Amino acid sequence: MALIVHKYGGTSMGSTERIRNVARRVAKWHRAGHQMVVVPSAMSGETNRLLGLAKELSPAKQDDALCRELDMLAATGEQASSALLAIALQAEGLEAVSYAGWQVAIKTNSAYTKARIESIDDKRVRADLAAGRVVIITGFQGVDDLGNVTTLGRGGSDTSAVAVAAAMKAKECLIYTDVDGVYTTDPRVVPEARRLSTVSFEEMLEMASLGSKVLQIRSVEFAGKYKVRLRVLSSFTPWDIDIEEEAASGTLITFEEDEQMEQAVVSGIAFNRDEAKISILSVPDKPGIAYNILGAVADANIEVDMIIQNMSKDGKTDFSFTVHRNDYAKTVDLLKTKVLPALGTDHIEGDTRICKVSIVGIGMRSHVGIAAKMFRSLSEEGINIQMISTSEIKTSVVIDEKYMELAVRALHRAFDLDQAVA
Ligand code: ASP
Ligand code: MG
Repeated sequence: MALIVHKYGGTSMGSTERIRNVARRVAKWHRAGHQMVVVPSAMSGETNRLLGLAKELSPAKQDDALCRELDMLAATGEQASSALLAIALQAEGLEAVSYAGWQVAIKTNSAYTKARIESIDDKRVRADLAAGRVVIITGFQGVDDLGNVTTLGRGGSDTSAVAVAAAMKAKECLIYTDVDGVYTTDPRVVPEARRLSTVSFEEMLEMASLGSKVLQIRSVEFAGKYKVRLRVLSSFTPWDIDIEEEAASGTLITFEEDEQMEQAVVSGIAFNRDEAKISILSVPDKPGIAYNILGAVADANIEVDMIIQNMSKDGKTDFSFTVHRNDYAKTVDLLKTKVLPALGTDHIEGDTRICKVSIVGIGMRSHVGIAAKMFRSLSEEGINIQMISTSEIKTSVVIDEKYMELAVRALHRAFDLDQAVA
């Protein structure tokens, strides 16, 4: 008998019919002898609906007072879905009880709309499990020291589930969702993309941060830190599918190297169109310049991703970096008004029509020539590389966004990702 956490996304909880299916699936696991904790999202569309109502009433800038109320509001979505699931489980003949985050309690800091979990008290939940009950805990939310309801940011139920699994030392945390696992790349771009049966959490972290939106990135960080075995699997299989088969399906995100059966050098190709490039030309090549530029950007709370400084010519150099596209206008404005005058240049160029394409794999640690192979396949397609950055387990390039799909397909082929690994 093991303690298992199930997490169901909004689509899986999208109607009473689907909630009944979730209840039947959970009941199957419970009857197989497992202690079950379930963390549901709000019914699909509900969080958007609630936040939309707030927007109708207040187009105002979001200050702390407003954000507090947004959390009070949005947290009700998960409270409703959790109670409905408990009701459905009771109708299946099980004892079930649901708790809102504050009832558990899941303690967070007070950063409304993006709170971080600080601790989870599992006493109450353990007592229920020991009494044979299924426990349902609302995703997405917690409570701060003063008793205010907080939420963890959009998609935060993943993080709730992993945090609960970590706190309770669950054997595994199963994330049921509308895709059947983690793929080598987006199958809408490359139809030959394959589901990975295992992926390391480090690779998953890179893929999540690079735009594969299967899991909220913080949930992956949590899983890595607290060594939670995490599995992403489909909630669209019939609820009465064989439990052994179900337990082995989807993608296992693991921290143990020997479980990583697929030893491909590159595990996946990630891509996104979320960034924009900014170049400042002819800045003096002397100490403090990078700090002058990027310090001002950081002070404005704008995150910078890739950075390139060219070799200098006649004491001048060019400096390029990328920011999120949403921050592009703000960054250019900030540089023009506050930074460039002091640097003695007004030469700034920007490009929002770029994309970032990355190859990711822990095998890159122990293999040479992987980046070169990437550059060769891009050159064979006639794709110009504008920027490059590398880490231990990934290489990313910035290219013109109109070549994004071509690049992803070429790389998927070049690294044999459409072929199962022996
Ligand atoms: N219901 C929340 C959202 O839509 C949290 C979640 O689903 O994970 O973002
Ligand atoms: Mg989600």
